[in-house]
Formats: sequence, C-alpha cells, structure tokens
Amino acid sequence: MPELPEVETVRTLLSRQVLGKTIDYVEILDFHMAQKSTYPLTKLNHQTIQKIARRGKFLIFYLDSDILISHLRMEGKYYLQEETEKNTKYARILFHFTDQTKLIYDDMRRFGIMEVYPLEEEKNIPCLKKLGKEPFQITPEELFLKLQKSTTEIKASLMNQSFLAGIGNIYADEILFKSKISPFQPSNKITLQECALLIQNAQNILNRAIELGGSTILSYHPGKGIDGLFQEELNVYGKKENICPDCHHHLKKAQIHGRGSTYCPFCQKVAKIVGIYGRIASGKSTALYYFKSKGYPVFSADEEVNNLYKKDKFFQAYCLHLFGETILSTYGTINKSVIKKIILEDEKKKTALENYIYPQIEKKLKIFIKKNRNQEFVFLEVPLLFEAHWDHYCDYILALDAPIEMQIANLKRRKSKTISKDLEFNASHQFEKNIKKCTDYLLNNGSLSDFHQKLEQFLQKIKKD
Ligand SMILES: [Zn+2]
Repeated sequence: MPELPEVETVRTLLSRQVLGKTIDYVEILDFHMAQKSTYPLTKLNHQTIQKIARRGKFLIFYLDSDILISHLRMEGKYYLQEETEKNTKYARILFHFTDQTKLIYDDMRRFGIMEVYPLEEEKNIPCLKKLGKEPFQITPEELFLKLQKSTTEIKASLMNQSFLAGIGNIYADEILFKSKISPFQPSNKITLQECALLIQNAQNILNRAIELGGSTILSYHPGKGIDGLFQEELNVYGKKENICPDCHHHLKKAQIHGRGSTYCPFCQKVAKIVGIYGRIASGKSTALYYFKSKGYPVFSADEEVNNLYKKDKFFQAYCLHLFGETILSTYGTINKSVIKKIILEDEKKKTALENYIYPQIEKKLKIFIKKNRNQEFVFLEVPLLFEAHWDHYCDYILALDAPIEMQIANLKRRKSKTISKDLEFNASHQFEKNIKKCTDYLLNNGSLSDFHQKLEQFLQKIKKD
C-alpha cells in the first residue's frame, strides 16, 4: 500500500500533469467506486483543479467549489492520457478534461476511496478529521503523551493513522530499525527521548523516500513507466532473508497485529542491556552480583569461559592441540594460568584461542538476551567487551575503575599467585582507550557500601532515562 512518500510522489506528479485543467465531465465506469461518496462525483463537472494537497495517505484535489478526497489503498493509480488512447485495464473513473485529455483512476481491487465534499465542509470531512499529525509536525512531547495511553506494540501505534498520519508497514519497519526500538515494545514504555528519536528518523527516512520517488514495492507505481527508488535503500522491510546491516545477525520476521514485521532481534531489543566493563579486580563481579540481588538477569562471560575450560570436552581438546600438554595440571585438568602466560607472549595463539572462545560465548550471550528480552534491564559482565566486539549489544556500558592499591588488594583476597602477570595482562587490554566508548564511569575507591551506593545511583539514573 502506498504510504506518505509514495502518495506525495503521486501528488507532485499529478500537480504537474493536471493542475489548471477543467473537467468537462466525470465518467463512472464502476459504480461500486462512485457509491462510496456522499455527494455525487459528477458534481465536479465543469470545475477546474486549483490545487492538489496531501494529508497522511490521502490526496486532496481542490476544485472551484468542491473537494475530491482520494485514497489509493492497495492498488489505486492515476494515469493521464489523450482522449484517443485506450483506457487502462482496471479503469474505474474517468475525468475527461476540456483539452482532450483524460485522467484515469485505475484500481484492480477497488479498495480505493473517492469522495466529494463541498469546499465549505472541508473542516468536517470524517476521514480527514480522524487523522493524527504528520510526522513533520508532531513534537516529541505530543507523541509521548499519545503513546502513554496505549500498551499496544509501538509498531502498531506508528501505523495507527489517528496517532500519526502517513506511516504504513514499510516505513514503520524502517523507522523502528533506525531508532533501534523493538517493534514489540509496548507504546507506553517508549521514553520521551525515544519519541524524539522516532520523529527525527521518521522525518529523515520519509524525506529521503520522497526525494527518491517512494519505494516501488509490489504494484505501486507513481505513474506509467515511473518507479520509485527508495526500495534500494530499505534496510529491513521485505528482507527477512538478509543479515542486519548494523550487527550482521540474521533479521527476523514476525506478525504484529496481522502485519508482517521485519526487524533485527539484536539491534532492536526490548530489554536494555548494560555491559559492565573495567580493569581487573575493579569490582566487576561485585557489581554484577549487586544487580542480580536487585532481581535483574545477569550474564558473566568469565563464568561462561570457566565452564568451557571445565566442562567442554571439545574445547579441552582444542587447548591441548594448540598449547600442548604443558597446560595440564598434575590432576590432568587445564591450568589456565599457564595458558595466560603463553598467550601474553604469543599473539598468534592468543588470536587462535579467542577465535574459538568468542563465538562460543556469543552464542550463549544471544540465548541469554533472547530469553530475557522482556525484562527492563539485563546486565553483562564482559571483561573483553570491546576486543570481542560485543559493545554493540549494549545500551549502556559501565566502566569500572579502581586505584592500583585496591586492585592489588582485591587480587590478594582472591589468592591470586600471579598478581603482576594479571596486572600486566589487564594493561594489554587498553582500558584507557576503551573507556571513552563507555556511557558511564564509576570509580571504586571506597568501602563496599560506598561501592554499592554508587551502583545504586547508576541504576536509578538509567531507570530514569
Ligand atoms: Zn542488528
């Protein structure tokens, strides 16, 4: 179905073609189409087309004393032809002009709307009165207030013409993808900031689509032999087989209110994901368990890696293959600190190990995110968040920092026998560089209760966002 950019394209084209033309007479080939109008279409006979406007997906023809409202719905199309030319196959209504041309309204499925009203009734036309503001006019505050009243999925609200006029399935999918908002998100959970983002992206996308003449999807053509080009720039609509252009995971398609919706299950998630990043022994696990104690789902990459070492026979075999038997302890288990020592000096082996571990843990991470997608927040503790390139999963990244004395004290408490190696290992992870990419910073330099207090402040802050 044509949406705002497509209807705008038709409006521009028709304005060029028929503005100033006088209708000699209206010929009705299909009475089913004409009977939807309260006033007869033939009321337009002998009137001149003065202006063609658009409201949402409606075209509005202003004539001398009447208005013609037209909605193309699924398949409606206009063609301007010479009188002598043969009508198109599904011609329903003909506007014969005094200059020997005719405007054909063609509609295979006859779902289109065509209604005539006297100019003085302009303010009371029922189908226009119900329309919400255009995406170019609404303010974030206005959209926010409307969404507050609804628990329906945001995708359905964006397509609800009384909320916002002009957006249909194609552009709703595209706008939500650009805004990184899940189409399933309940409307009343959308924040004011997200409303501003939605409006900004709606304007950018719709403007770009208008510039390119809309999207030629299925049967829409603005005019004979003319195609829109925006379909070349679509990111998700109709692309369920593709991978996400942002995160390279597979896109997904689901039904929302009976409409197919394509989205990226990772970029457009419901739960906000908080990554906990930081120096070694700076309190990452303490932070993770603080959030767990508050009832939030947590994921510890370290724990998952430990499970790999302990339980995964394939991984154990891989380590033996990569490092040799020197990594085995006297009990025959893998000695992680020996591996740590080796990879500090051998970049190739480090990469080979990481190339095995990252995809394994990422698989677990994805299952975790999917399982908890309807939570408010989930917390991930990933010491190598940036090295693994998982920072894109996170809405927030909390960087934990601690003075060196505190790191050493914490390592001693953990009974680490390789404190200097641990610190050296950690230094190789470019904390200083990555910290700039974190959304929040927390210095753990006081007592445990001080630390908890700071974590609570952070939690309250992101809850308010
Ligand atoms: Zn994605």
